[in-house]
Amino acid sequence: MTDLQESLRAELDQLREEGRFRELAVLEGPQDSEVVIGGQRLINLSSNNYLGLNTHPKLVAAACEAARRWGAGSGAVRTIAGTQAIHEELETRLAEFKGTPAALTLQSGYAANLAVLGGVLGEADAVVSDELNHASIIDGIRLTKAHRYLFAHKDLGQLEQRLDEARRDGRRRILVVSDGVFSMDGDIAPLPGIVERARAAGAAVMVDDAHASGVLGKGGRGSVSHFHLEGEVEIQVGTLSKAVGVLGGYAAGSQELRDVLIHLGRPFLFSTSHPPAVVAACIAALEVMDSEPELQDRLWDNTRYFKHGLEQLGFDCGQSETPITPVVVGEAAKAMGLSDALRRRGVFAQGIAFPTVARDKGRVRTIVTASHTRAQLDRALEAFQDAGQELGLAGSRAAP
Ligand SMILES: *Cc1c(COP(=O)(O)O)cnc(C)c1O
Repeated sequence: MTDLQESLRAELDQLREEGRFRELAVLEGPQDSEVVIGGQRLINLSSNNYLGLNTHPKLVAAACEAARRWGAGSGAVRTIAGTQAIHEELETRLAEFKGTPAALTLQSGYAANLAVLGGVLGEADAVVSDELNHASIIDGIRLTKAHRYLFAHKDLGQLEQRLDEARRDGRRRILVVSDGVFSMDGDIAPLPGIVERARAAGAAVMVDDAHASGVLGKGGRGSVSHFHLEGEVEIQVGTLSKAVGVLGGYAAGSQELRDVLIHLGRPFLFSTSHPPAVVAACIAALEVMDSEPELQDRLWDNTRYFKHGLEQLGFDCGQSETPITPVVVGEAAKAMGLSDALRRRGVFAQGIAFPTVARDKGRVRTIVTASHTRAQLDRALEAFQDAGQELGLAGSRAAP
C-alpha cells in the first residue's frame, strides 16, 4: 500500500514538471475592475463579472436585507424543507427573463448541467455534443448512461452525421448540447443551424448560456434571443455566477422539464439550496439588468474598444465575437510568460495552456466588463504592448 501523502507529493511534482502547478491568486478585497493581489493593485481582465453587478449597491443591499428577514441559510435540500418563497420567486423571474414556461435553480451552473444531463437522459437516449463544450457538460454526460456522439467544434455537417447515427441506432430521446458562447475562444455557437439540424432529426436542443446571458440578446437574455429563436430551444441552462454577479445556475424550459428535474436531478435532490441572501441578490440583479440597460451597452463599447486596440497592436485574437478576447501566443511557456509580464505592469490576465486549450494555442485570456473605464483599458493596452515587445512575441507590433 502506498503512503497517501507521498503519493500526492509525487503527483504534485508531476504537475510542476509539466508546468501546470498553480498558486491561487488571492484577492485582498472585492472582485472589481481593479483588484489587489499580494499588495499590488491590478487592472482585472480575469473575471466573468461582465456587467459589474457583484459589487452593485442594489445587490449588496438585497443580500443584507434577505439575510435579516429569511436567515443566513436555507437549512435543507429543496425537496425537504429548503424551498422558501424567494427561491420560487427567483424561478418565476428567470422564466420570465428567458421567455419560458418554467425555470429551476441549482446551486451552480456546474450543478445545473449535471442535473439536466443526468436527469433528462438515460440508457435508451443519446447526447450529441460539441467537442469544445464546457467541462461541466462533459461531467454531466459522464453522469448519464446515455450514448455519446461528439461532433467537431461548430461543424454542422458532422452534427448532421451524428444525428443520423443516433437515429439509426434507435435512440429514444436525442439531445443536442452546445455552449452558447465558448469560454476559451469567445466564439458564438451556430444556434440557428443547430436548431434546424435537430428539428430535421427529431432531436431536442440544449444550450448552455453561461457566457451569453447578460452579454448577448435583448436585455442580456442570451443566445436564443440573439438569434431570435424564442420557443425553438427546449432547454436553456444558465449561470447566476457570471454576468448576474452572484452564484448559482438554472435550467429554463417547459413545466415538464422543471418537474422532471425536481424528481430526477441529483444535484437538486441531494444538495442544500441557496442561502436567502444569494437568492435575493440574484433577483436584484435581474431588476438591475432591466432598469440599467446601459450596462450591456457599455460592456459592448468596451469590448469593441479593447479588441480593436489589441488587434492594432498586432495580437492574434482568434475567433472571438464576444467580450472574451484571447491573445493567442503559442506554447504554454509563452502564455504564462506573457501573463507574468502583464502582472509586473499592473494587469491581471490569466495564462491558459494545454490541456485546457490545444498545445500550440496557449493564450492569455482577457474579459472586459461594463465597469472598466477607458483609462483602465488604455493602461492595459499599453501593458500588452510593452510586454509583447519585451518577450519578442511574434505579431506584437513595435512602437513607431
Ligand atoms: C462557468 C460555466 C459553467 C459553470 O457555472 P458556475 O455557475 O460557475 O458553476 C457552466 N457552463 C459554462 C459554459 C461555463 O462557462
